[in-house]
Amino acid sequence: MNKPLIVQKFGGTSVGSVERIRAVAEQVIKSKNEGNQIVVVVSAMSGETNRLQSLAYEVDSVPNTRELDVILSAGEQVTVSLLAMMLNKLGYKAISLTGWQAGILTDDTHNQATIQSVDKDKLYGLLDDDYVVVVAGFQGINQHGAITTLGRGGSDTSAVMLAGLLEAQECQIFTDVDGIYSCDPRVVSSAKRMDKVDFSDMLVMAEHGAKVLHLPCVEYAESKNLDIRVLSSFSPQGGTLVTRMASRKDICGLALKRELSKVSLQPNHIDTVVAQCQLLGISIHYCAKNYLIVNDSDISKLLQVLTNNIQNIEPISALALVGYALSGIKDEVETRLKAENIDVIDSFQCDGVVKLLLLPTDLDSAANWVHAFYIEHESTLSGKKKELIM
Ligand code: ASP
Ligand code: MG
Repeated sequence: MNKPLIVQKFGGTSVGSVERIRAVAEQVIKSKNEGNQIVVVVSAMSGETNRLQSLAYEVDSVPNTRELDVILSAGEQVTVSLLAMMLNKLGYKAISLTGWQAGILTDDTHNQATIQSVDKDKLYGLLDDDYVVVVAGFQGINQHGAITTLGRGGSDTSAVMLAGLLEAQECQIFTDVDGIYSCDPRVVSSAKRMDKVDFSDMLVMAEHGAKVLHLPCVEYAESKNLDIRVLSSFSPQGGTLVTRMASRKDICGLALKRELSKVSLQPNHIDTVVAQCQLLGISIHYCAKNYLIVNDSDISKLLQVLTNNIQNIEPISALALVGYALSGIKDEVETRLKAENIDVIDSFQCDGVVKLLLLPTDLDSAANWVHAFYIEHESTLSGKKKELIM
């Protein structure tokens, strides 16, 4: 009988040094010795992709997207090799594969590609020969043979899609935090780790800035009903299972997004600008009557075509309240924050989220306040609901 197949993914911090790579190898060996077949997906060493990206931007503020993928994908090639060598050194059969060697075929969208298929026969063959198969995350190859990347943070998606395509028993994402928290614990120290989180809540959290999991991997996992276990590579107990849950919390968490810009436009230009953003592949986080919210990193691209229409560009941040039962919260939270001297610049509500636009200097205090009021004191909300019913 075939042994169970597990896909394990290790992020940049987990492979940030040779010592850490040794710890990863030991974790992989432990899982292998428990009787599993293992595919490991790794990211580049921490900071490496940023370094490569800065080099590219030193040459051109809007680099050719095909060439950008060639440089950005280089970091992962280093880590797959180091990990495979380490496993060999510790006495285990292991082989490294870049995206194209693993037959990871994607569409043609450079810098934001989507995986379409993988060379299953090759990977199954290696696993049957008792190899630990170490695959480079974040990269693939398109139909023309060009290297593609999946968007920053894309190794999670490589892992989850490999798990789906290979019909693995489980996908484990090892990272530098021990699970999914109700808010980034570096900002809100009282944030709580969740044992389980529903796909839909996780999707909204990832969409609005929670960085633990790459958005497309959650979309894929939800569509295939494939559970993802998020674990710490430093102490792999606990963790969070991202799964389909029968009952969900009213408000499960907060997501923060920095490094956004509010681009104010001349009146009546919004439709033209939105169309141009779509052509340029610039994602719009929010579109109001006379301004757009985009990522800071897209500003140089935008300025190349739009100088005449732009009135003003200013930095902005966003705080998203994510949950199942948010009705009535938007106006209330604005009023309450105002009483705390925090101005909400704008706000909106859609399925599963209330989003507040704030000055970057207000983001952390707003997150702490909202977390304390709506998440730590959940009873406040349920209490209020009861009052409403009575
Ligand atoms: N190395 C890539 C990045 O930094 C992919 C990843 O880490 O998931 O974005
Ligand atoms: Mg990541």
